[in-house]
This record gives sequence, structure tokens and C-alpha cells, in this order.
Amino acid sequence: MTTAHPLDVQPTPLALLLLGRQSDPASERGVDCPGDLPSPSDPDLVARARAAKEALGDRVFVLGHHYQRDEVIEFADVTGDSFKLARDAAARPEAEFIVFCGVHFMAESADILTTDAQQVVLPDLAAGCSMADMATAEQVAECWDVLTEAGVAGTTVPVSYMNSSADIKAFTGRHGGTICTSSNARRALEWAFEQGEKVLFLPDQHLGRNTAVRDMGMTPEDCVVYNPHKPGGGLTTQQLRDARMILWRGHCSVHGRFSLESVREVRERIPGVNVLVHPECKHEVVAAADHVGSTEHIIRTLEEAPAGSKWAIGTELNLVRRLALRYAAQDKEVVFLDRTVCFCSTMNRIDLPHLVWALESLAAGRVVNRIQVDPETERYARAALERMLALP
Ligand code: SF4
Repeated sequence: MTTAHPLDVQPTPLALLLLGRQSDPASERGVDCPGDLPSPSDPDLVARARAAKEALGDRVFVLGHHYQRDEVIEFADVTGDSFKLARDAAARPEAEFIVFCGVHFMAESADILTTDAQQVVLPDLAAGCSMADMATAEQVAECWDVLTEAGVAGTTVPVSYMNSSADIKAFTGRHGGTICTSSNARRALEWAFEQGEKVLFLPDQHLGRNTAVRDMGMTPEDCVVYNPHKPGGGLTTQQLRDARMILWRGHCSVHGRFSLESVREVRERIPGVNVLVHPECKHEVVAAADHVGSTEHIIRTLEEAPAGSKWAIGTELNLVRRLALRYAAQDKEVVFLDRTVCFCSTMNRIDLPHLVWALESLAAGRVVNRIQVDPETERYARAALERMLALP
């Protein structure tokens, strides 16, 4: 039997490179952006972005994730969550350039799902995702070795959240698993349990636990957390054998900030408020909320909510602020669940100067910050994505 070594914790090798002008090949972000960016104080930025986009015409298609800044969303041809945007890009084969205003793993997924003739551009290469960074290819390969040694790899099906690097998606495809989004996580897990006895859920432990326990009736004891910084994941062979869900120890730094205290505080402050949170929040927050759902679900719920209703939303602040403004006119009160400001710092890396630089470079015939997944990785990652598309 393998024994756990709880005190032998290794520090994470990944530094947060929020300023972006640095290089970290071990991370999916933090790679230097070449070229001179326009100054953020340039009063002509909006006009320059408009002119460059007009000059490119149908050759460019700009995608804007829901968590992007307003100044960037203004130039998006389409907005949505990461999966919807990747599909929108694939549905526009005539667009030579896909400018992805989002984060690195999303641009990778767009590259995987679009044709070889289309080039995907991320305006700032430092726009990564801390959650995706929490599962590297080496760590996940080591985890699979641990499962193999414990004699459970043969009955374990990997299910990876869309918010993961192309390498992790490829690992998933290679081992017969599927990708999921926050909208279809339950269907993905049900499918996986038809193929095997256990699921290795990567990289967001909260989405995995919330789906298994809240939506599928498992108990918290059915889930164990694999910590990549501990030998053997910090788990014994017996724990791995007994578990139904092996959750990777990753989380979203934005949604992980909401707490039970935030829920209590907003209920006191706004009597009658409906608390609506994203399933990347901790289990205790999800359990205390009135409604839980993906970004698209949150938008739809507010759209359908009656006038006079009050909502506290637990997701990224750029989106909540836009929704609050939009629905104020319909007499729906929408507030942010936490009192402290909670932007996704890497999403916010994409700003108007970076967008102008990317569009003007393309208009001048220079493809900058291209995101390209190598053919081998793409092949297996696509297999995992296609399994998701085929889910009932
Ligand atoms: S909101 Fe969370 S999961 Fe989404 S990009 Fe930011 S850190 Fe990653």
C-alpha cells in the first residue's frame, strides 16, 4: 500500500507573471509580447481600432469572452463563453484571422477547431489562466503513473474541463476521455461512468465536486483530491481504489474568492435577494446559493427574471457590471456577490492598446502572437473535444 506524505509539500514552480513582459516556458502565460504597443492614454485608440478592423473587413473575426473589458467587447463580432466562441470561429472559415479576446487556452481551442488556413491571434500572450496552469502535462502524466501503480488507471476515465491547456486536452483524448464545459459537466460525467468506474476530473476540483455531489447525488466521501505537489498526490492506494471521483487540486482564483460569508452578507444587506453563482465556486458557496449555472445560464436567468427581482451574482466582475447596467433599465437589481473587487487579472491583460496593436499589425500584413497547437497534440485534443460534441 502506498502511504501519503502530507508534510512533503513542494512549492509550485509557476510564478504569477501578471505584468506580462517576462517569459515562463513552463506556464501557459507570461510570454513576452513583441512590438511596440500604443500608449493606453492615446485618445485615438478607438478610432485606430475601428480603422484597422474596417481595413481587414471579413478577413478578421474578433471573439470577445464574457469576462473581457467593455472597451474590448465593443469591438467583438461575437461574445460568449469559451466553447461557444471556439465554435463560432469554426463556423466562419472565410475569416483568415481569428482575434481571440480571451485567454490562452481558449485561443488554443479555437486553433484546434478551426481550419489550418485560419490563424488565431491572442492580443497579449500574457493572458493565461491560473486554473489551466495548475495542471501541467508532466504533472498529469505522473498522476496517471500513480493511478497505474494503484491498479486503477484501467477503470478510470479522464474528464477535463474546457479551461485546460491543449496538452491536457490531448492527454484526455489519448486516454479515452472527454472534455466538458460548465454547462454539460453532468452529461460528461454520466457518459464517463458508463465507460469506467472512476473519473479523473481536471483541473477544477470545484466544478468536479459540485457536479458529482450536487447534481449526481454522490457523497463528498466519494471524492478525493489529488495534490500534484505531494508524492502520490497525497493519497494512499486504498483512497484511490475507494474513490469514484479523483479531483485534481486546481481552482479558479476568481470564483474561489467567493465565500459563505459573502452569501450571508448579501442576504442581510439585500432582503429577498436571489444568489446565483457559477459552479467553479467552492462547494459550500454553491450549497448556500439559490441557483447555480454557467455564464450562459446566468445571462439567460437574468434575461428571464421578472421586473423588481434582486440578484447577487458570483462570477467575474466585468460581466456582472455589464449585466447590472443592462438590467437596471428593466428594474432588475443586479449586484456583485462580494464586496471586494474581483476581476480576472489575466483576462484583463487584453486591453485596447493590445487589440489595436494586433489589428494594425494584421492590417499591415504581419501576423503577431499567433497561437498554434502542434499537429500531434491537436489530433488527440480534437478527439476529446469531438467526444464532448457527441455527448447525448
Ligand atoms: S476567470 Fe478563472 S478560469 Fe476563467 S480565465 Fe480567469 S482564472 Fe481562468
